[in-house]
Parts: sequence; C-alpha cells; structure tokens
Amino acid sequence: MELNELTAHEIRNLLESGKTSSEEVTRAVFAKIDREDGQIGAYITLCKEWAFDRAKTVDRKRKDGQAMPPLAGIPIAIKDNICTRDIRTTCSSKILENFFPPYQATVVEKILASDMVPIGKTNMDEFAMGSSTETSFFGVTHNPWNLEMIPGGSSGGSAASVANDEAIVSLGSDTGGSIRQPAGMCGVVGLKPTYGKVSRFGLIAFASSLDQIGPLTGDVEDSALLLDAICGHDARDSTSVDVPANHAKALSGSISKNIIGIPDEYFVGGLETEVETAVREAIKVLEGLGAKLQRVSLPHTDYAIATYYIIATAEASSNLARYDGVKYGYRHKAEKGLSLSEMYGKTRSEGFGVEVKRRIGLGTYTLSAGYYDAYYLKAQRVRTLIRNDFEKAFGKCDCIIAPTSPTAAFRIGEKIDNPLQMYLSDIFTIPANLAGIPAISIPCGLTRDGLPIGLQIMGKAFDETTILQTAYAYEQAADWRTITPDGNKL
Ligand code: GLN
Repeated sequence: MELNELTAHEIRNLLESGKTSSEEVTRAVFAKIDREDGQIGAYITLCKEWAFDRAKTVDRKRKDGQAMPPLAGIPIAIKDNICTRDIRTTCSSKILENFFPPYQATVVEKILASDMVPIGKTNMDEFAMGSSTETSFFGVTHNPWNLEMIPGGSSGGSAASVANDEAIVSLGSDTGGSIRQPAGMCGVVGLKPTYGKVSRFGLIAFASSLDQIGPLTGDVEDSALLLDAICGHDARDSTSVDVPANHAKALSGSISKNIIGIPDEYFVGGLETEVETAVREAIKVLEGLGAKLQRVSLPHTDYAIATYYIIATAEASSNLARYDGVKYGYRHKAEKGLSLSEMYGKTRSEGFGVEVKRRIGLGTYTLSAGYYDAYYLKAQRVRTLIRNDFEKAFGKCDCIIAPTSPTAAFRIGEKIDNPLQMYLSDIFTIPANLAGIPAISIPCGLTRDGLPIGLQIMGKAFDETTILQTAYAYEQAADWRTITPDGNKL
C-alpha cells in the first residue's frame, strides 16, 4: 500500500514511530496527482512549493522532539471557496479567476496551527451552487469510481481528491448538502457540522444562514480528528460558538443504548431501490449492535427544497452583489463611453455563469418589495416548521438515519440542462441545513454498477459526538472502507 492510500490516523502512527516523514507522504500525494489528476480534475490550483516547505518544517519540529498535534504533517486539500492568503481562491468562477486573498480563512489558520500540509485548492460548482461540480468555470471533475460520472457537488473536487488518494483529507462547505452528497457519491466520509460549530470567516459566502465548513475524509476517525482541529469560537464570526474539541476521544463510545430514528418521509418515491436496500441493510447492522429503532415523522420534509431555494437564493443575491468589477475580481474590459451601471451589468453578465445568474435573478425577485411577504417571509416560517419537526423527532430518538441522496452518482451532462432535476438530488440533505443540525454521510454499499452509496446520520444541534459514534460503530462493523475505486477505474 502506498502512503497516500492510508488514512490520517494511520499515517500519524507511522510518523510518530519514525517510519515515515511528512515529506515522504507529501511526495506520494503529489506523485498521484501528477499521474491521475489530469483525468480526475479534482484541483484548480496546487501549492507544491508551500506544501514541501511546510512538510519539511513539520518533520524538523518532530525530530527536535516537539509535541505535535494529532494531524501534524498530514496533507490536506481545501475547497476553492475558502480564502488562502496569496494563493488564488476562485470559487470556480470567472469573476474571481485572479483573486488572491489578502487574508487567511480561520479554518486555514487552524489547520496551519495544527501543522497540517495544504496541497491545493479543489474544484467546485461555481459559488457552491450545484450538485455535480459541472458549473465550474474550470471544467468538470470526474468521479474516481467511474470517470463518466459526476463526483457530486458542490465540493466535488474535495470528495474526489480524497477518494482518489490525491489528498489524505480535505475541507468542503455545505449549504444544502455539498459535503455529504459528494462524499456519498465518491465513497468517502463527509460531515456537515452544526451551524456555528466552525467559523465561516474567510469562507466566500453563498447563503450565510446555511453555509458550514466541514471535513471530507477516508474514515470516521479522520473526520473527528479534523473536526477537532477546525471547530470553536472565532471573534471574527459572531455566529460561531465555543465548543470543546473532543470528538476523536469519544468515538468508540457504545451505541447499544442509542435510539435511532427512521423517518417515514425519507423512504419515498424517487429513492432508487438499490439505495434503499443498502440503507435498510445498514440499519439492520446498527440494530445488530444493540441500537433500538424508532419510527419518526418529519412532516414538512416535502417543503424543504422549495424553502431552501427561496432562502438560499435570497441570501446569495445579496452576498453576490459585491462582485461589481470595482473592488476586486473580473471587470469588463472598458469600452469607451460606458456608464457605471453599464459597466456593472457587463461585468456581471460576463463574469458569472448561467446557474449563478439564475439564482441571483430568483433571489432578487423573492426579496423584491411586492413579493417579500409571499415568498421570503413565508419560507422563513416554513423553515421554523422544519426545525420544529426535528426537535419533536429528537424527543424520541438520539439520531436519525436516512439515505444521503436518492441516487448514486449520475452521468456527466445528464442533469445539467434540467435545474429542477438537479435540485432534487439534495432532497435528503437540505433539511439539516435549514434546521442547523449536524449530519454525516458514510459509505454503506455499492450499486450493481459499482458506484458508492451514502448513509446519512443526522443529530441534535451540537451533538456531533452521537452521530460520529454511530457512524464509527457502523464503519467498524461493515468496513466498506477497505473497498476503493482502484479496481475499476483509470
Ligand atoms: N446543491 C445545492 C445547491 O445547489 C447545495 C449546494 C451547497 O451545499 N453548497 O444549492
């Protein structure tokens, strides 16, 4: 087995016992990228020099006998909507094609403080709007399990980089499913933390009341370790909360007294039979481990997509107003005699892609004076109903299990011209964002065509520990982790 195929905690053991170095691990990761990223397209920008510099520094510190954080020396990929100082951060958009942030996102400061080794910036849907990584200005990312398939989105590059061993772990962002859905489709673990658990400072905003940064990793233990490294209060994000970073330590807690909720509304038409079968098998495995099952109802689930697409587009239309060609980013090459507003108009119509424009249009409409009450306000009320559904359900259970997505990965091009079809792929992930609760996707099987299936576990606000413990117990019992895309790709 190559070093880049190991998990972070496996590499940590080798590093601590002196059997390898961060430099060697980093070399293995870049060798894989050099060989295969031409076909996968997980990365937009690589920062090789910085990575090797840091890897050597970390190795030196370790040699000097300094106490090292758990993820010291581990290569990490970063979604390209997370600001990295002096390293291009594009959001996969032409409008930010040449944006070099003058500051570091808090999560980046944290991973640097953890002595991790940033490898590069990963491809995504433009401004994180999409479910397939096809709306990127820089081209599509291919699913390592089958190159004709999408990797999911919007954190498709982050998921594919880990699935294809082109990074050990990565960071993504999740507004309506963008960590969990690509994790499910690429056969890796993706965690959306509770809203407020991780600072959003330096995350380029899409929909600020829904966005959260989280880990994509090869297994659950790595997910807990990376969450520990990035969570906590940040004075620069007033929605962030002070929480103890002790998830990795609590992982192996017993789940035999846990009650697992099975929501009626998540096993409905549109759910592919193979996905349903795999999820039901996984539920049986958890039952075998002693967990009790409890039917629960989340009656407003049907309204989640409509609610999300009103709130998310409203917030996006406001957040994206800053890209006007004046302060930074792309500007229309001046034709003589343009007024200021003509320059704005041309800049934005040239700089944004089709999906982003669709959302700005929708969001501006629902926020307009005549329609605000009918759409935006109503959506906020329904959001409260959806949150109440979860609160009620969590009165009866400790966590809730569901599929991550209704289908496995679909073909590149299959849904790109049908936005409503595309929006439906997040039907099971969006409610957790609307409610602000944590949710994780872990691999739970393969389709007949050999594509990964994701199992989603949702938890109470700030109770990542229970969902991580449940995910860990399942992973140990089922061990899908030993199956990799290697046999049937490239
Ligand atoms: N696919 C959803 C959307 O297009 C969610 C995206 C996300 O979580 N960033 O908005």
